[in-house]
Amino acid sequence: MLAPFAAHDATSRGRKFPETSPANRSEYQRDRDRIIHSAAFRRLEYKTQVFINHEGDLFRTRLTHSIEVAQIARSIARALGLNEDLTEAIALAHDLGHTPFGHSGQEALNECLHDHGGFEHNLQSLRVVDLLEERYAEFPGLNLTFETREGILKHCSLKNAPELGELGKRFLDKTQPGLEAQLVNIADEIAYNNHDVDDGLRSKLLTIDPLMRVSVFAGQYEEVRRRYPDILPRRAIYETIRRMINHVVTDLIENSRRRISHAGIKSIEDVRRHPESLIAYTVEVSEKSRELKRFLRQNLYAHEQVTRIMGEAVKVVRELFEAFMREPASLPLQYREKLQQQNGIRERARIVADYIAGMTDRYAMREHARLFPGG
Ligand code: MG
Repeated sequence: MLAPFAAHDATSRGRKFPETSPANRSEYQRDRDRIIHSAAFRRLEYKTQVFINHEGDLFRTRLTHSIEVAQIARSIARALGLNEDLTEAIALAHDLGHTPFGHSGQEALNECLHDHGGFEHNLQSLRVVDLLEERYAEFPGLNLTFETREGILKHCSLKNAPELGELGKRFLDKTQPGLEAQLVNIADEIAYNNHDVDDGLRSKLLTIDPLMRVSVFAGQYEEVRRRYPDILPRRAIYETIRRMINHVVTDLIENSRRRISHAGIKSIEDVRRHPESLIAYTVEVSEKSRELKRFLRQNLYAHEQVTRIMGEAVKVVRELFEAFMREPASLPLQYREKLQQQNGIRERARIVADYIAGMTDRYAMREHARLFPGG
């Protein structure tokens, strides 16, 4: 069933700590299963996507976002003959390194670590699966395959790439990851572009009128209104978003199939050597998708009601970082033990960052309340 250019168990670059192959599942199924059983995966339930967790039960969290990414990515993988298990593993793990409070939390932590090597959430996701999950007797982390780790490390700064060995090499050589990694990257964007329209409308921070200036929305919404003039507004929105997803996914599958065939791709090594990403939209859909992204940035992510809460969140992260740096004795035991083996300020900052990045929104607020009573 798998295309020759898909990732195959037999040609995997393997795991850092060699293990015997699983008896009743594939290597990538094993990766996926380990991700699902990790603590970091469960924490995604209480981490912000755009709306803080307690703002309402129907808004996406990082967990439901990751599941939607996996759904979209698997559909595309199957249609293209790619490895569905690997695709699912990458999708479920892609946000494991996210801080509490979404992008604001990540920017705040990056600023705190300015003099200590910075903070990148993709790198942190890799750190979670390579190091921070302590569950297995035989090795640190989850000991995932090279291909899953390659997919998790979506971006990486040139400053950090040399420290990552084989995995960092592609950022220096400007080569591509496997197709499964490429497609999760776009499935991530498809998921958030669409669910953020849905959540934005539900929160009433977005309304239909301005969205009608966005062509990918307007086209589908008009069609739904014309065909089903009597359905309730909420249902028309769902139907519109369903069609928007279908529209871009179909374009992506068909265009990527053409690109793979035109480039004469025969193996995953051909994929890696190809000068650009093979999983890509047509120019028209790519432009439409950028238009929607721009709209969301200006009208939802920069909405005063979102930025006000995020301003508070930034303060929580910053004050937590400063407090733990000043007084490491207030860290939990396992982090204090790690600190005892380290003495540099840079190492201390990294351990504190690992602790803060792992927090859920509400846990971060609780820790803040503990350290700043009455604050
Ligand atoms: Mg994501």
